[in-house]
Amino acid sequence: MTEVSCVTCHRREHWDGPEHHVVIAGGLRRPTEAPALAAWRVIARSLAGELGPVAGECAGCGMPLTGPPGADLATWSWRFDLPDGPLTVDGGRLSPPMAPADVTARLEALHRRGWDLRPTTWLFQGCLIAGMLVPIALWVFGAIYTAAFLINYW
Ligand SMILES: [Zn+2]
Repeated sequence: MTEVSCVTCHRREHWDGPEHHVVIAGGLRRPTEAPALAAWRVIARSLAGELGPVAGECAGCGMPLTGPPGADLATWSWRFDLPDGPLTVDGGRLSPPMAPADVTARLEALHRRGWDLRPTTWLFQGCLIAGMLVPIALWVFGAIYTAAFLINYW
């Protein structure tokens, strides 16, 4: 029996030959980055030996499922579409051969998120803050008006 898990959503399965018994369904957590980049980070940890071999795709979140380090599992092949052609990772081998740090840099450059400009949100928030200033402005006006009245006419 081998315990296979997903580091992204914490899904956990017990694999006993062809039988896959789900211990924790997981699937509620999603990667915070682009899926391809998040999947690559898991695979890079697996290549570095921090995680075991990639054994499949998580049914909960679609990220790689990994076994315990050194486990003897049928390996799963993962494909990444890089700007200069596809890259496949199969059984710990990259084809075409490439340094893992190089792949990280390429995927990061590919999936870098630019500034998310949302003018309508800014307009709404600006109006909301301006609206919140109205009671303060009325209070200040009332205080000055009363003070001016008392100083001049009392
Ligand atoms: Zn998962």
